[in-house]
Amino acid sequence: MTELPVAHPIASPQPGAAEYPGLDAWRDLPVVQQPTWADSEVHRAAVAELSSLPPLVFAGEVDLLRQRLADAAEGKAFLLQGGDCAETFEGATADKISARVRTILQMAVVLTYGASLPVIKMGRMAGQFAKPRSSNDETREGVTLPAYRGDMVNGYEFTPESRAHNANRMVQAYHTSASTLNLIRAFTQGGFADLRLVHHWNKGFTANPAHSRYESLAREIDRAVKFMDACGADFDALKRVEFFASHEALVLDYERALTRIDSRTGLPYGTSGHFLWIGERTRQLDGAHVDFLSRIRNPIGVKLGPTSTADDALRLIDKLDPQREPGRLTFITRMGAGNIREKLPALVEKVTASGAKVLWVTDPMHGNTVTSPNGYKTRNFDDVIDEVRGFFEVHHALGTFPGGLHVEMTGDDVAECLGGADPIDQHAFLERYESVCDPRLNHMQSLEMAFLVAGALGKR
Ligand code: PEP
Ligand code: MN
Repeated sequence: MTELPVAHPIASPQPGAAEYPGLDAWRDLPVVQQPTWADSEVHRAAVAELSSLPPLVFAGEVDLLRQRLADAAEGKAFLLQGGDCAETFEGATADKISARVRTILQMAVVLTYGASLPVIKMGRMAGQFAKPRSSNDETREGVTLPAYRGDMVNGYEFTPESRAHNANRMVQAYHTSASTLNLIRAFTQGGFADLRLVHHWNKGFTANPAHSRYESLAREIDRAVKFMDACGADFDALKRVEFFASHEALVLDYERALTRIDSRTGLPYGTSGHFLWIGERTRQLDGAHVDFLSRIRNPIGVKLGPTSTADDALRLIDKLDPQREPGRLTFITRMGAGNIREKLPALVEKVTASGAKVLWVTDPMHGNTVTSPNGYKTRNFDDVIDEVRGFFEVHHALGTFPGGLHVEMTGDDVAECLGGADPIDQHAFLERYESVCDPRLNHMQSLEMAFLVAGALGKR
């Protein structure tokens, strides 16, 4: 087996290093999927700058999310987590951000109404700028360059300059996250997300069955709201929604530099996002990612793919949630439609038997990636749906709670995943494939998915 590299030490003192030296213990551990920054002076300056910038999210908000996730772990709420595979700096426009938020809100309305459960709304947004890759390089027409690792690390354009790893991009990722979060906060706190506007979030594609289903649901909600209004109800609760930010905690220089000691509790919090997760490729038990995330107070997730064993899951719980604190740990399973019914039961059974209260979430995207005949990375909507069904079936059979849905989606009318009620075929990819990484559900496929999950949840 090849030896894994260890992270290099950093000169500038990091926030909280004096109180919590363990926050830097990951630097001596094997670490995978890290950038190889070209210029060490630029790197040091970028890390120093990030260390002094204000937090993007606040410890109090992070604590609130942990409580909400604890509710979900107990079957009293449902987590909806969605957004791009890879956010880009160029894609952080008001139109695209608002379309994504609006689609998540629509999905949440469908789920809340269909299942009569509170829905925790969370974006893969405002920080999802780094990607693990299966290969370090990419070759096109005989030219080999470093693989694209997300805008936080390098550019998508296939030139040596663009593909070089540039630590200044971490600072740009911070600022793009800040402006994205600012817009999200304005939308969700400033009246835009008011349930009385439920009709206005819908748009276009009237021929699509999910469109008219949503329209009739919105009419029902409208009638209920008007009725309550006539009764003199107070609608303050409808005006604002809680919306949380999440991303894969991949580039540890970035995550470490944005760690802050909370003045109320004296504890370390990752302040780059409310919820941080460890990906399928970085969940090594003795690796740097698991160690670093074990030391911050945020609710955290771990992706579990088809090779995960029940023993892996139990050891991850011991490391990441030794106190067995509800809301602390979420397992996001991404087994593939063909595996979920076979692989998930043992994990859920053994974890449940251990007494741990984790939240189980399905990611029906990452185990179902295929290449279309015309060469695009895609997913069949039917496979995605089948994995969700399998997830519900397994939990139903075991009497455990299927607590959430994690999807790659967008509010735009892209063509990246095959199928759906108004089917996308591979020829549409030529015109409307926009993702720089994995294929996302488009606006209508996302709504269709929400109706399906609402049905499954409502039946419980
Ligand atoms: C992702 O969420 O985009 C991703 C890379 O997932 P996974 O770690 O599950 O492969
Ligand atoms: Mn992805």
